[in-house]
Amino acid sequence: PVTPKVQVNRPSLWDKALCHRSPWSHKGRFGHLLVIGGADGMLGAVRMAGAAAYRCGTGKVTLTVPQGNEQSLKGAVMQEMVWSWSGDDYFADESSLSYRLRSEQFSAVVIGPGLGRFPGEEKWLGHLLEQIEHPVILDADAINILADHPHLLDLKIAAPLICTPHPGEMARLLRTTTQDVEQRRNEVAREYAMSTGMVVVLKGRFTIIAFPDGRQVVNPSGHPALAKAGSGDVLTGMIGAWLAQGVSIEEAVLMAVYLHGKAGEHSVTSAEQSVSVDEILAALGPVIQQYSF
Ligand code: AMP
Ligand code: MG
Repeated sequence: PVTPKVQVNRPSLWDKALCHRSPWSHKGRFGHLLVIGGADGMLGAVRMAGAAAYRCGTGKVTLTVPQGNEQSLKGAVMQEMVWSWSGDDYFADESSLSYRLRSEQFSAVVIGPGLGRFPGEEKWLGHLLEQIEHPVILDADAINILADHPHLLDLKIAAPLICTPHPGEMARLLRTTTQDVEQRRNEVAREYAMSTGMVVVLKGRFTIIAFPDGRQVVNPSGHPALAKAGSGDVLTGMIGAWLAQGVSIEEAVLMAVYLHGKAGEHSVTSAEQSVSVDEILAALGPVIQQYSF
């Protein structure tokens, strides 16, 4: 089939997202992103997503991690607010994630960085998806949970869904091999987007962004310096950042993937294998500036 291409490298598409801030700006104008993840030993994942979201201009970021992990996280962040959740507190009380989702004004939600797997995960994720109305990005273990419980997508979900699998996660979703995904990247991303209604970001060299209406885009930016734990969490935070700020889903995803790749390129100032996630985060400022007006 002929798939119309959306031009990625066209900053005019991003006017609203990358224009200068009005001198009258206040944080309430730039959205509130909620990041849900951060199980034992993977607190860094939510930190990196949160840090990336702030670098991309989000007004407020809340990180929420399993009960027991919040104290360590609180000591490790400066700008982010920190909450905790438990795998079985659905509507229980005022400290439950569900209660807080209903009472706070979030404009986008990320589920998955360092989330881990736990008993009751399927019910837990189903409850969340049924409640959230703002755009939701499913990454990492949220994708793995979905792969094991595909019927979650049959629930009544109001939120637009974006998923960001790497080829291994895509293979789990499709119950095939990573090699098969790599050989048919365009096809599998398009088919999965069309059959599920999600926007699919199939990562790797030349990330593919597939939309439910059959359109797809191959992202030209990126660098093997990004092939390191943490870069995916940065991307997820970037997509969440622009969604939280009210940018359309199509623009937010295209812009985040493109600028993430550019930040990878920009962060290589010496040996490419030595690039750290801090350097990728630090590259976001100069890269965003390059495309701002
Ligand atoms: P994850 O596997 O979830 O940590 O995500 C890795 C991120 O780094 C994705 O955004 C990939 O597209 C990007 N990435 C990894 N390897 C490469 C590569 N060789 N070239 C360009 N981008 C890459
Ligand atoms: Mg990942």
